[in-house]
Amino acid sequence: MLYFKDIKGHTDLRARLIQSVQEGVIPHARLLSGPEGAGALPLAVAYARYLLCTGRAADDACGACPSCQKINKLAHPDLHFVFPIINKISSRDAFCDDFLPEWREFLMKTPNSNLSGWLEKIQAGNAQGTIYARESNEIVRKLNFKSYESDYKVMIIWLPEKMQEAAANKLLKLLEEPPDKTVFLLVAEEPDKIITTIRSRCQQLIVPLLSDENVRQSTDETDMFLELFKSIMRNSVSHNLRGMKAKSEDFHALGRDKQKAFLAYAQRQVRENFLNILNQPQINYMNENEADFAVKFHTFVNERNVFDFVGELELAERHIESNVNAKMVFFDLSMKIAVLLKR
Ligand SMILES: [Zn+2]
Repeated sequence: MLYFKDIKGHTDLRARLIQSVQEGVIPHARLLSGPEGAGALPLAVAYARYLLCTGRAADDACGACPSCQKINKLAHPDLHFVFPIINKISSRDAFCDDFLPEWREFLMKTPNSNLSGWLEKIQAGNAQGTIYARESNEIVRKLNFKSYESDYKVMIIWLPEKMQEAAANKLLKLLEEPPDKTVFLLVAEEPDKIITTIRSRCQQLIVPLLSDENVRQSTDETDMFLELFKSIMRNSVSHNLRGMKAKSEDFHALGRDKQKAFLAYAQRQVRENFLNILNQPQINYMNENEADFAVKFHTFVNERNVFDFVGELELAERHIESNVNAKMVFFDLSMKIAVLLKR
């Protein structure tokens, strides 16, 4: 959970966030705003995961590095969370860390939930969720630690509009003079309620609420990509030149953006089929249909061909990017894959 691939839709936003990491242009503060259910929080976590991942791939975090493994449990020493809480627990002042076990479960099981879902989870009763002024000292304290194992420290603040004024003012100071290699990700439902001076210091991203139609479309797209992927691999294994040619027409018809998206998808499938060889189901992230195909296909992907295989797909992506004829790129790719699959 909490990978880019788990985010339904939002293809453009994902691509923008991925690109910024790949180019090393990391704004020290981002504000992701979206209504409840839009998925701004899981998107922020997926971005943090990608940023902290030490084995990141073109389209997502690796899932296997120590950083990813810690984020799987939401227990990464360089990833901090601030969220609204209730004032007291067992007659003393409460801090976010007091609610970490509940928070982890909440985020893993219901990443698209909302404030009332969270307050129910911590049995807040009638209490409002607030980010208390005292929490800002905790934020400063955590950011003063040297990062443990990553280049970056990430502080995700969920619902900054629930900050007490004093907390917001301290946050503003931090944003004005950001500690080195620290990234703030503010995730808001009502950005208008955040003071303008904070907002203006953040790179702002709008995370729109997707209709069922949008979400269904993106599921349909994954299914379509898988079918195309299967066809290429079958044609390549059987050296079916006629089939390769027919499929290059289909590929051409996708248009440039989808061609690129498909090639990124194919890279992920190849990597995951390779991981399947290593027999580590816990770092395998295929859906049911993909896993079905992998049962046989993974035997074709091995340590002798996997890097060239992914390399050819990357090369094809670059060729599409620079406007080389899509049919040629695709046909050429199928031929190269046919050779690679024999290794
Ligand atoms: Zn990783």
